[in-house]
Amino acid sequence: MLALVACNAASSPSTDKPAAATAAQTQVASDSIVPAQYADGKLVKVVHTDAEWKAQLTEMEYYVLRKKGTERAFTGDLWDHHEKGTYICAACGLPLFRSETKFNSGTGWPSYYQPMKPEYIADEADHSYGMERDEVLCARCGGHLGHVFPDGPEPTGLRYCINSVSLDFVKD
Ligand SMILES: [Zn+2]
Repeated sequence: MLALVACNAASSPSTDKPAAATAAQTQVASDSIVPAQYADGKLVKVVHTDAEWKAQLTEMEYYVLRKKGTERAFTGDLWDHHEKGTYICAACGLPLFRSETKFNSGTGWPSYYQPMKPEYIADEADHSYGMERDEVLCARCGGHLGHVFPDGPEPTGLRYCINSVSLDFVKD
């Protein structure tokens, strides 16, 4: 996996999309915040088949978000990114992290000590590669984001180590 694919590669070069997007354009990977919706107090999920995800996402997004891949350290476009704004799920647009909670972990991956809302992040034990880690996923679409480790800064002591390609950035 040598491809240096930027996670915003899917965005169109023009500015705002026209309100009436062509019907053929089926919910392309989001580059703007898509607020959470709730039904019966539960987060409404975004569900697609594997083929649909493959069609919607860039190759690198698909590899990381759907196949739980990892981008190489220091290759993403967000690890050294310091603007004020919101980091959203690259697949479904759920707002996941705020710039105020981002810190320099020195790992080469964007790192945060806290998600925007606990219920926006799902975690799961990950025993792959002989390591005990907690995988973190977007709670709405199930996209793989990265892992959370208990060695982060205060106030939470957590380090959410996230792939740049799993995120898009929306400036304030
Ligand atoms: Zn998502």
